[in-house]
Amino acid sequence: MIAAASPPGHVHVVGAGLAGLAASVALADRGHVVTLYDSGPQAGGRCRSFIDSELGVRIDNGNHLLLSGNTAASAYIQRIGAFDTFERLTEAAIPFIDLQTGERWAVRPGKGRVPWWVLRAARRVPGTRARDYLDALRLWRAAPGDTVAGLLATDSVLFRRLWQPLAVAALNTGVAEASARLFWRVLAETIGRGAASCRPMLARDGLSESLVDPALSFLSRRGAEIRLGSRLRALGFADGRVSELLFEHNALVLRRADSVVLAVPAAIAARLVPGLIVPDDYAPIVNAHFRYSLSPDAPMFAGIIGGTAEWVFRKREVVSVTVSAADRIVARPADELRETLWHDVTLAFALPATPPPPARIVKERRATFRATPAQEMRRPATATAWANLHLAGDYVDTGLPATIEGAIRSGFAAATRVHQRRGQGSAANIGPAPMTQTPTPTEDCQRALP
Ligand SMILES: Cc1cc2nc3c(=O)[nH]c(=O)nc-3n(C[C@H](O)[C@H](O)[C@H](O)COP(=O)(O)OP(=O)(O)OC[C@H]3O[C@@H](n4cnc5c(N)ncnc54)[C@H](O)[C@@H]3O)c2cc1C
Repeated sequence: MIAAASPPGHVHVVGAGLAGLAASVALADRGHVVTLYDSGPQAGGRCRSFIDSELGVRIDNGNHLLLSGNTAASAYIQRIGAFDTFERLTEAAIPFIDLQTGERWAVRPGKGRVPWWVLRAARRVPGTRARDYLDALRLWRAAPGDTVAGLLATDSVLFRRLWQPLAVAALNTGVAEASARLFWRVLAETIGRGAASCRPMLARDGLSESLVDPALSFLSRRGAEIRLGSRLRALGFADGRVSELLFEHNALVLRRADSVVLAVPAAIAARLVPGLIVPDDYAPIVNAHFRYSLSPDAPMFAGIIGGTAEWVFRKREVVSVTVSAADRIVARPADELRETLWHDVTLAFALPATPPPPARIVKERRATFRATPAQEMRRPATATAWANLHLAGDYVDTGLPATIEGAIRSGFAAATRVHQRRGQGSAANIGPAPMTQTPTPTEDCQRALP
């Protein structure tokens, strides 16, 4: 094994998922010398596209929905020059279809933070009254141990048709155990801020084309080095800092001014960093990608109420179905899932009851950590006991669940720490700093609800 020295002041970012990419982009943008490593042959981690040999088309590992209120993600997309790769829906509307009643509607938050829109029946969920929405205020007062189902009226129409589907999708956790505080933060940053924060954004060609490839190009233009196929297997420590990076095939001796951003998944970070406590319970997500072209009149995505399918996305040659917190179905055989989920698609879009078209079922068994109060307590901070080691990843304590927005914020936060450690102030934030406190009623809550 050859131990090579790196140039002083070098930043080594290990893990090229969105957290590592965001940290690298922020740092390279501020003139830092960056090398980005990943164990895999492809960057993007849990957010990536690939050619599916069975379907003969490019698909994403899972459907990912962004909203304009995802401010860190928007800053990242802007910085890497990828805004034009997104379908940005002009109307802030979240469409739903109830399979049992056949009803279709869209929740349409109004302009501004005062949610006058709940006073208009056409903008709210059918079968709900304006005062039902007040229920959500309980989330703002949530104690650390409270769950979504513990605080909201679970027998209400509003819960079944709005709070439950949003909470399960955003937290990838069943409502009986999902953290009420985390759900509040998601609502406060999106619906609670009105239409301007609720415009859906969908990657037009694929997640890699929109969130990964433009970042790699940006990094290359800034002189950053990208080393795929480099698995970090240990860290060396000396004098209160990381002194060595031990990769599978080589080792790197760090200088005093060098920094490390560790942006690997939680379980890997816990293996590499002594004593690190991280979330250790994961929830699955199941996606079904059907080779089928829906009519261009169909919504680009819709929440499905009363089926096994939870969200359906219309793409050029593919219809994709997502089921989050999918514990109850993840063990079912692919053929059975294909039948069940296609049946829901035919009901939702009034298609003839034909056998399913060719489909790929993708089961991500450890899609995200389970967003329960107990797991929330296990999330570490960006800083570690080692002066030059900073953590990034969706599991880091960003105040948000494991999402694109959370991963990117964690990367920006790690970049800010590296920048500050060099005595270069806090200007490294190309996006907002991570949220560390529950929004106050004056900031969000009073404006969020009537
Ligand atoms: C199916 C699915 C659907 C989702 N849907 C949504 C959604 O709709 N909206 C949303 O906001 N979020 C969604 N998410 C969550 C989102 O994808 C993740 O929160 C985010 O991608 C996590 O990024 P990360 O960088 O923290 O981790 P990762 O993407 O896991 O990146 C970690 C990287 O580290 C690398 N690595 C691991 N070990 C090593 C090692 N020893 N050495 C070097 N490199 C290593 C890995 O290869 C990987 O590239 C979804 C996730 C899944 C799986």
